[in-house]
Amino acid sequence: MGKPTGFIEYTRDKNPYADPSQRVQHFEEFTLPLKVLDRQTQGARCMNCGIPFCQSEPGCPVDNLIPEWNNLVYEGRFQDAIDRLHLTNNFPEFTGRVCPAPCEGACVLGIHEPPVTIKDNERFIIDQAFEEGWVTPNTPSSRTGKTVAIIGSGPAGLAAADQLNQVGHQVTVFERHDRVGGLLMYGIPNMKLQKKVVERRVQLLRDAGVVFVTNAFVAPPADAILPPEVKTVNPKTLIEEYHAVLLAIGATKPRDLPIPGRSLKGVHFAMEFLHSNTKALADSGFAQQFTPPINAHGKNVIVIGGGDTGNDCLGTSLRHGCQSLVNFELLDQPPADRAANNPWPTWPRIFRTDYGHEEANARFGNDPRQYAILSKEFIDDGQGNLAGIRTVRIDWSKPGKKTPFSEVPGTEEVFKADLVFLAMGFLGPQQQIIDQLALHTDPRSNVQADYGQFSTNVNGVFAAGDCRRGQSLIVWAIAEGRGAAHAIDAYLMGESTLPVPGMPAVQMAGAS
Ligand SMILES: Cc1cc2nc3c(=O)[nH]c(=O)nc-3n(C[C@H](O)[C@H](O)[C@H](O)COP(=O)(O)OP(=O)(O)OC[C@H]3O[C@@H](n4cnc5c(N)ncnc54)[C@H](O)[C@@H]3O)c2cc1C
Ligand code: SF4
Repeated sequence: MGKPTGFIEYTRDKNPYADPSQRVQHFEEFTLPLKVLDRQTQGARCMNCGIPFCQSEPGCPVDNLIPEWNNLVYEGRFQDAIDRLHLTNNFPEFTGRVCPAPCEGACVLGIHEPPVTIKDNERFIIDQAFEEGWVTPNTPSSRTGKTVAIIGSGPAGLAAADQLNQVGHQVTVFERHDRVGGLLMYGIPNMKLQKKVVERRVQLLRDAGVVFVTNAFVAPPADAILPPEVKTVNPKTLIEEYHAVLLAIGATKPRDLPIPGRSLKGVHFAMEFLHSNTKALADSGFAQQFTPPINAHGKNVIVIGGGDTGNDCLGTSLRHGCQSLVNFELLDQPPADRAANNPWPTWPRIFRTDYGHEEANARFGNDPRQYAILSKEFIDDGQGNLAGIRTVRIDWSKPGKKTPFSEVPGTEEVFKADLVFLAMGFLGPQQQIIDQLALHTDPRSNVQADYGQFSTNVNGVFAAGDCRRGQSLIVWAIAEGRGAAHAIDAYLMGESTLPVPGMPAVQMAGAS
């Protein structure tokens, strides 16, 4: 700790956001960096408290060496800082932008003061490193002759590819979409995570020797109508042709809302909206004007479900210029402060105002969220188009006969809607690969593979990321990708020196 009184002298200063009414005019990133000296001051707020809860569960899942690089930021030793950061995190430019920062929920300073700006400090270190040209391809000095096929190019697949390539295995990543990145590319919108930031890292991996095969759908559903450029890949062939296979296929099966009127025109899964929007934007070369296939311009939009996905639908609808915007949430509004059963250092489950809520407020003068509301029916305009939603308020303190809540009599309402986006979570991975390889699944239909082992019931086949743990976070996907790489390396070579979360690199030498 370079500045023992930093946490007393300085207040928390987050990266500011651009003005909400300005930033909804475009899809560019809206976070504005602090000046270098101001960021160094934020590094000085770290107390080096002795037991850095921020640094491992329930804080950072990749075990970022947070107090060390906070201090290096304060001291202006930015190259040392990126070297420490890359020891534990392959892609700090992603987490530094969109991680919800469980580390900050576990920061010791956060017990009595606003926590250290850990996430913004992380972003500063990596952005500075790219600017200075310190981030270069990690090309291995020799090859092992072993080959690994990775199915899925999200953060789990990319982290595993990076790690396995660094120790000399030849890695090929198969991706069903036309661009690499998984939800980094086609889930999280450009204003939160610019796609050029994703592509920059993918190019580094390519330059280091990782091979990417896009438009390669491994075991597509039997009834899928694939565009001509998409090729089918047989998973059994991958097992035969590669020494090991990693499934990193995400958990992309969306939860549906099978109420009357579900088939009306205008009701979409959130990912249909978000994916097609980013694809159209990227295909246009990130032009100011582009034509999204699902266009919210001039429409009354209702987003069902909170969370990151729902919030991204709000932000995207606003950028299209929607007429009105409402966000339904089944649960009650969370408390303003930690509840008694949610103590420090666990992740604070409190009321938060995310970027989309702030933008809706700036545009329409009110927060778009409606809590404790149940959708009962999508209403037809008489021509097969959506015209609205019939709802009822619910009471969670009074369980019903078949539900953990009861409907409140006399609270039926109709909300006008031309477009509805269903953002109610995900139900696990697509099942076709799992069925074709006869992989065991857990009760939530995720691939069964123990955390730390990552091996499935089929010899040489591993699983990591959302397809193993269920829809989660980028930082968890990176942690799982790193852990799976260690397990695969040990499987191929008999032992592995690759670091895994929970065990820093320095302790790993010689360990298997
Ligand atoms: C809209 C949205 C916003 C989010 N925002 C955030 C956020 O702000 N912060 C955060 O930390 N987390 C966020 N998340 C969660 C985060 O994106 C995921 O937890 C993370 O991307 C999971 O990584 P993964 O590599 O396991 O899977 P994914 O990122 O889902 O990648 C899986 C990849 O596998 C490919 N694939 C699947 N099946 C096949 C097949 N059969 N053949 C070939 N390829 C296949 C898919 O096309 C995809 O590219 C968000 C999620 C969503 C949906
Ligand atoms: S990856 Fe996430 S949890 Fe870890 S230090 Fe960065 S912001 Fe915090």
